[in-house]
Amino acid sequence: MKVLISEEQLQARLDELAVEITRDYKDLCPVVVCVLKGAVIFMADLVRRLAFDLEMDFMAVSSYGSSTDSSGIVRILKDLDMDIKDRHVLIVEDIIDSGLTLKYLLKNLSSRNPASLEICTLLDKPERRKAPLPCRYTGFSIPNAFVVGYGLDHGEQGRNLTYIAELDEQDRVS
Ligand code: 5GP
Repeated sequence: MKVLISEEQLQARLDELAVEITRDYKDLCPVVVCVLKGAVIFMADLVRRLAFDLEMDFMAVSSYGSSTDSSGIVRILKDLDMDIKDRHVLIVEDIIDSGLTLKYLLKNLSSRNPASLEICTLLDKPERRKAPLPCRYTGFSIPNAFVVGYGLDHGEQGRNLTYIAELDEQDRVS
């Protein structure tokens, strides 16, 4: 396992993202939606940098297919508690890979008629994109590798690492 993004790099980039998000949302009392479970650490660190009124909600989705290849068929395991009609909604996601999960989420949430709907992702693997996706805020673009840490798991483990690490083949088979 090798460190791809250190704790210091993560925290510095979150400071920058928070400045951008504050500039865009400070008077809008947005609903910030965390996509469970991978985005939970990112979300928690991000919202504590946003010193304006906002509300938080959570969604859990599962993508059919193998753990490394998203099929695009998405099931909602936990829906939002809030009504987002006429609200400014910011989706906070851990990583965009094929983009199929978020494409589905965007379609689903936009049918509820929010005032606006944008995406903030910590990580992006642009090489893997199968569907074009309008992503407003991106923490880091990374190469096509399987990563863990800072919310992202490998078989449910590794979420509590304070940095992002790249798994090598050897780690993946175990
Ligand atoms: P997409 O639909 O964009 O292909 O899949 C996105 C989801 O796949 C992410 O929310 C995440 O759960 C999972 N995923 C994609 N790439 C990685 C990765 O490198 N590491 C981990 N742990 N999960 C990933």
